[in-house]
Amino acid sequence: EASSSDDFQTLLSWADKHRRLKVRANAETAEDAAKALELGAEGIGLCRTEHMFFEAERIEKMRAMILSETKKERKKYLKDLLEFQRKDMFELFKVMDGKPVTIRLLDPPLHEFLPHTEEDMQALATSIGKPVEKVREITEGMSEVNPMLGFRGCRLSIMYPEITEMQVKAIMSAAADAVEAGYKPLPEIMIPLVVNVREIRMITEIIDKGIQKVLKDRLISVPYKVGTMMETPRATLGADRIAPEVEFMSFGTNDLTQMTYGFSRDDVGKFIPSYIEKKLVEDDPFVSLDQRAVGRLMELAVSESRKAKKGIKYGICGEHGGDPRSIRFCHNLGLDYVSCSPFRVPIARIAAAQAHVEKAQED
Ligand code: PEP
Ligand code: MG
Repeated sequence: EASSSDDFQTLLSWADKHRRLKVRANAETAEDAAKALELGAEGIGLCRTEHMFFEAERIEKMRAMILSETKKERKKYLKDLLEFQRKDMFELFKVMDGKPVTIRLLDPPLHEFLPHTEEDMQALATSIGKPVEKVREITEGMSEVNPMLGFRGCRLSIMYPEITEMQVKAIMSAAADAVEAGYKPLPEIMIPLVVNVREIRMITEIIDKGIQKVLKDRLISVPYKVGTMMETPRATLGADRIAPEVEFMSFGTNDLTQMTYGFSRDDVGKFIPSYIEKKLVEDDPFVSLDQRAVGRLMELAVSESRKAKKGIKYGICGEHGGDPRSIRFCHNLGLDYVSCSPFRVPIARIAAAQAHVEKAQED
């Protein structure tokens, strides 16, 4: 007997035959990845590695690493963090066997990792074996007035290259382990919050060195790609210069919207609803791409980078990637994939087909 769920599956398989955009999911755990696959995801478009450290024991190590004053101290914690990442990555490659997994280098909003209360400060001091006064001093030195515009994303890789080296080693060791276990891992290393090509060059050098170190001892080859987030207006405006250095570009429209409009992504419920009501903005810019704003920057980045280099893969991994209106925009722009949270994957599959059919009718 046919059920509505059978009907939905039929609709989805119809949609899959009529879409050009690939649909990936944003996921960090093997469970979420499996869920995403079940819902039809064709890869992971964004694995936010900082989310892999939120669990109690890990966050302690992560904080200790961030609060370390010397490279030597940091390296001690990085060794443990490497093992966590390596295991988790292996699980992800296993689940996503044969499908791309885009792993983003650490992009922790630093304030989320710093102690917020006196109690927290005390506990952290005990766990890392430093006097609480010392921890307070370091924390105060690190706290920023505008952390979302501060020491995050690839800025961290520039200042602490050993973090990137650790992550690259973890990713590539896990990928090599997966190959040896008979799987087909397709890691794509992604650099966050890039502003210009010089950052990419500097970080790519660290990435390449890390990869060489892992692979020189292992008699296997592991395919991989290196690419960048496009999530600052400055990056989109310099896409032609960035293009030769990367194999893919993924639009991080959460940050890109925040920085384009100057609207806080963490306070969307505050004044934006009345702005929409008063028709001061056409739609919620954190959901819907706009031809004259973030969409325009994306368009510029795609066309300018295409002129500079052929064969770049383009994706989107901000919240917009799961919204039908924005998916239509992404299709028309000629992106290769959208990436959204696992539960939005079916909606994205349908929206991608709808966009394709509508565009074909228009043309
Ligand atoms: C983005 O900024 O759109 C993005 C995907 O990165 P995050 O949300 O993790 O900042
Ligand atoms: Mg971002």
